[in-house]
Amino acid sequence: MTVIAFIGLGNMGGPMAANLVKAGNRVQGFDLVAANLTAAAATGVAVAADSDAAVEGADAVITMLPAGKHVLSVWEAVAPRVRRGALLIDSSTIDVDSARRSHAIAAAHGLLSIDAPVSGGTGGAAAGTLTFMAGGAKDAFAKAEPILKPMAGRIVHCGDAGAGQAAKICNNMILGISMIGVAEAFVLAEKLGLSHQALFDVASTSSGQCWSLTSYCPVPGPVPASPANRGFTPGFAAALMLKDLKLSQDAAQSTGAVTPLGAEATQLYGLFNALGHGGADFSGIISMLRGEHGQS
Ligand code: NAD
Repeated sequence: MTVIAFIGLGNMGGPMAANLVKAGNRVQGFDLVAANLTAAAATGVAVAADSDAAVEGADAVITMLPAGKHVLSVWEAVAPRVRRGALLIDSSTIDVDSARRSHAIAAAHGLLSIDAPVSGGTGGAAAGTLTFMAGGAKDAFAKAEPILKPMAGRIVHCGDAGAGQAAKICNNMILGISMIGVAEAFVLAEKLGLSHQALFDVASTSSGQCWSLTSYCPVPGPVPASPANRGFTPGFAAALMLKDLKLSQDAAQSTGAVTPLGAEATQLYGLFNALGHGGADFSGIISMLRGEHGQS
C-alpha cells in the first residue's frame, strides 16, 4: 500500500485526499485548522498531530497550501524527515521562483520533486477530474503519475522545475483576459438591443468562440451550468483569479515579458475585489462592467 502524506486539507486538499483514500492509499493528513482535520478523518484520512508526523514512512508528500511562503516553510521542515527515495509534490498555485526554490530544497535532501498545480476547481477536486500541470525531471514525473491519477482527469508533463506553475499562470492569464472580453461584448450587446442568446448563437460558432463564452458564459441562459445562472456563486472565486493574475504579472516583471492585457485584467480584478466581490465567481465582473458596483 502506498503511504501518502497530505499537508493542507482545505477546499481543494480535503476532497483530493479523500480520492487518494478511495483509491486504496494510506493517507496521513495534516492541516492547521481543526475543522479540516475532522472533515478529513470522516473521509478516511489518518489525521496526524503535525507535519512531521504526517510524513513519517511516507512514499510521497503532497502539499496543497495557500502561497509560496507556506510551501517553502513546510518543505524546509519536512524534507530532512522524509525517508530517502520519497517524492515531494506541490499542487498549490504559487509563483515560479518559489516553485524552483522548493525543487532545490528537495534536491538538497536527495529527494525527487515536482510542481503540479491544478485546474478544475473544487468540483474537479471532488470528482477526481483535475488537470495537473507538472514540472520536474522525467523520473520524478514517472513516479508522480500513478500517485496523481486518482485525483486527475488529465496529467501533462510541461517541462523542468517550475514549468507546471508557468503553464498554470499563463493559462489563467488567458482566462482572466478572455472573461473580461466576453463580458464587455455582452454589455455592448445589451446597449445595442441584441439579445444574449443571439450573441451567444453567433459568437459561439464564430471567431469570438472561447471557453469563457461556451463553458462559462457570464450571462444567464445560454450555458445553464455557468455561475451566472446561480447569482455568481463560485465556481472560481474572483479573489483566486486576482491571485493568479498577480502571479502572472510578477512573472512578467521578472522575465521582462510584455503583457499589457494581463496587467489591465489584474487592475480590473483588483477593483472588483476592492468593491467587495472577492467571494463571487470571477465571471461576475460583468456586473462591474455594467456599472452595477453594489451587486455582483
Ligand atoms: P484553502 O485555504 O481552502 O486551503 C489551504 C489550507 O492550507 C488551509 O486549510 C490551511 O489551514 C492550510 N495550511 C496553511 N498553512 C499550513 C501549514 N503550515 N501546515 C498545514 N496546513 C496549512 O485553499 P484551497 O482553495 O484549498 O487552495 C489551495 C491551493 O490551490 C491554493 O494555492 C489555490 O490557489 C490553489 N487552487 C485553488 C482552486 C480553487 O478553486 N479553490 C483551484 C485551483 C488551484
